[in-house]
Amino acid sequence: DVRRPQGLLDGLDPDQRAAAERAGGPLLIVAGPGTGKTRTVTHRIAHLVAERGVAPESCLAITFTRRAAEELSERLTALLGERAGRMTVTTFHGLGARILREQHGRAGLTERFQIADETRRAEIAVEVAGSDAEARRLLARRDSAATAADGPDDPALRDFEKRLRDHDLVDFGDLLTLPVRLLGADPDLARHYRERWRWISVDEYQDVDETQYALLRLLTAADGNITAIGDPDQAIYGFRGADVGFFLRFAEDFPSAETVRLTRNYRSNATIVQAAVQAIAPSSLVPGRALRAVGDFTDPPRIGVHVAADERAEASFVARAIDRLLGGTSWHSLDSGRVAEDGHGGLSFGDICVLYRTDAQSSAVISAFNTAGVPFQKRSHDRLLKRPGVRLVADELPHHPEGPLTERVRAAVALLTERHAGDPELVTDLRSAGELVLPLAARCGDDLPDFLSALALGAEVDALDPRADRVALLTLHAAKGLEYPVVFLLGCEDGMLPFRFPGTAGDRDRSDEDEERRLFFVGITRAQERLYLSRARRRTRHGTAEETRPSPFLDAIDAGLTMPVDEESAARRRPKDRQLRLL
Ligand code: ATP
Ligand code: MG
Repeated sequence: DVRRPQGLLDGLDPDQRAAAERAGGPLLIVAGPGTGKTRTVTHRIAHLVAERGVAPESCLAITFTRRAAEELSERLTALLGERAGRMTVTTFHGLGARILREQHGRAGLTERFQIADETRRAEIAVEVAGSDAEARRLLARRDSAATAADGPDDPALRDFEKRLRDHDLVDFGDLLTLPVRLLGADPDLARHYRERWRWISVDEYQDVDETQYALLRLLTAADGNITAIGDPDQAIYGFRGADVGFFLRFAEDFPSAETVRLTRNYRSNATIVQAAVQAIAPSSLVPGRALRAVGDFTDPPRIGVHVAADERAEASFVARAIDRLLGGTSWHSLDSGRVAEDGHGGLSFGDICVLYRTDAQSSAVISAFNTAGVPFQKRSHDRLLKRPGVRLVADELPHHPEGPLTERVRAAVALLTERHAGDPELVTDLRSAGELVLPLAARCGDDLPDFLSALALGAEVDALDPRADRVALLTLHAAKGLEYPVVFLLGCEDGMLPFRFPGTAGDRDRSDEDEERRLFFVGITRAQERLYLSRARRRTRHGTAEETRPSPFLDAIDAGLTMPVDEESAARRRPKDRQLRLL
């Protein structure tokens, strides 16, 4: 019987198990990629409920993306059955929205308040500020405003807020700042929520920002049952306000905190783990960090390194490599290891992901994939509603209340495609928006309000369909927490990784550079069995072609862990090539 209490921790190693069994109080799980942090916290929550009599209603689990929240819910349901449905498993913004729905009156809203999209925000900002340019400045000021308990001092910002409320609207930032203001101003209200959610876990804690942190502090006593999970070396959202400092000072904020470290990487083969450790070493934030592969060094394949002439050649390399991998004739086919063992190792498109630094890099890949007939799904960490097509679909839907949600999405897309037939660019965007929105709709059942708020709160990566047999095209930021048997990491060039705007050579500071290195580390550590690093000798950015240099991050990786992969060296290689046996 898999439901027998001990069974809940059967799949954990002794360190993970100790973390899962730790009783109440603040707990910090700090560990590298692939060490089972997410797995451990899942089992910990299940164990608390099944073994320690914790009420499911008092469990709050916060994840970074809605997709991660769904995955966590699914796993908890598998472990606990219907009890999992009584827990709160959500993102920070989902949590804020929930508190606001409950406390709408205090925020000057009705229960049915809506979340304003960028178009609506811009309209209201123009009403307040007059010109478009002033409106843009106003919105920028608003988005960087601190979480003052009584709201902003600036009269224009106050006016903007009042107008939002008059329309029964909040914007994305409000979802966090309003709950912080409400709970900060009313200790009884804060206590109410503390008593409700006595057990809080936060995954990817290294990427919380100031407002999220403020909300967590209001929701947790200094000796409360908070479990923070993360890896400072994977902090990659500093550019939009996240601060790894909150992770680093957890033990000061919660003086009774216990810290657990996990060091065994279950995800990647030994070569990939070693390369990852080397890659992060120059700027690791974790003193004495340890990370080792569970598997040994006897047969993992080397990391494939490919140098292409330009970005188009780089993209067609990826398409050809996928063809070889699935056909069982990979450049690595002389190695042992799962992928090569039985021809194609059961490998399919859905096992592969292509990672890149900037969204613009995806277009070369998409055209290569279209030519080669490689099915794919593309996601970034951008807000869903940034896509005009998605916005149109979202606006159209509520007016078509008949039939199942997925049918309604299809109908809305068909209708809009017809209505905008004269605008081919918009039609293309509508088609891809339709695809993006359908997986979300399918997962929301027929709950329209849930679906609409998923659209408003969601990032593209939330619409990633883990069951689709398609190659995933992801920005490095969107790839956090995910894993794939085969990973291609593109654009390993100076200026791309680390990223620099073209024509701004040299003027980046050390902390940006470190964050870029961590992004490289996140990319490498998504791979389970096969990793390919590619670069283009010449790349066109913003219309200008430039010669490139290799990414300095590559220098940290031992040449002995890598091998060149290209047509020429593949042709030279004989089946009995001894060099490959030396691994
Ligand atoms: P990241 O930092 O990238 O988010 P993580 O530490 O959260 O990584 P998980 O995603 O929880 O790591 O686990 C990585 C992989 O290792 C998953 O496939 C997981 O199922 C597997 N794994 C974790 N612990 C064990 C274990 N004790 N036995 C077998 N497999 C494990
Ligand atoms: Mg994780």
